[in-house]
Amino acid sequence: MEYRYPCVVTAGRMPSKVLRAPSPKGDLVSAETRSRIMRAVGQRDTSAEIAVRRLLHGIGVRFRVGNRDLPGSPDIANRTRRWAVFVNGCFWHGHKNCPKTKSKQRPRVPESNRIYWALKFFDNRQRDARKCREMRMRGFEVAIVWDCELSDLEGLRDRLRRFIAHAMGGRSD
Ligand SMILES: [Zn+2]
Repeated sequence: MEYRYPCVVTAGRMPSKVLRAPSPKGDLVSAETRSRIMRAVGQRDTSAEIAVRRLLHGIGVRFRVGNRDLPGSPDIANRTRRWAVFVNGCFWHGHKNCPKTKSKQRPRVPESNRIYWALKFFDNRQRDARKCREMRMRGFEVAIVWDCELSDLEGLRDRLRRFIAHAMGGRSD
C-alpha cells in the first residue's frame, strides 16, 4: 500500500468566526512569553529543529539544514533524494487541533489583540501552504513536524521513517 504523507497545512479562507470564538480563560501565553516567542521567530537551530535532526540522523539519512536556495528555506532537506522537512512552532504557525496550544479547529488566538493575531496566523498558514506547494512543484516530498509532536519521540521517529521511505521509494540513488 502506498504511503502518502499529507501536507497538513492548508490555507483555506479567512476564518470569519475566529474573532467571535469563545475566549479561553486567561491569555494563552503571558506578555513576557509572547515577546520571547516574537524574538525567537526567524531564529535558527531551535531545540525542536535539533531534536528532529537527531531523529533523522538516527534513521540514517543525510540532509542539509537552512536551505536558503529552496522555496521557503526548508529547515531540513535532501536535494538529491528530493525530500524536505519544515519544523513548525505550534503557536506561531497556528497549529490546529494542537495538544500544546490546546487549539481546536482554529489556531488558538491570544486574548489580547485578537484581530491582529487571527490575521497573523492566517497569513502564516497561507505562507506555509505556499512554501509546501512550491516545494512539491519542484518534485520534493514535504513533511511538516509540529513542535507538539516532540512530546512523543517514538511516534515522531516512526512517522519520519515512513515519510523518508515513501520519499525515497522507487529511487536507487
Ligand atoms: Zn501543535
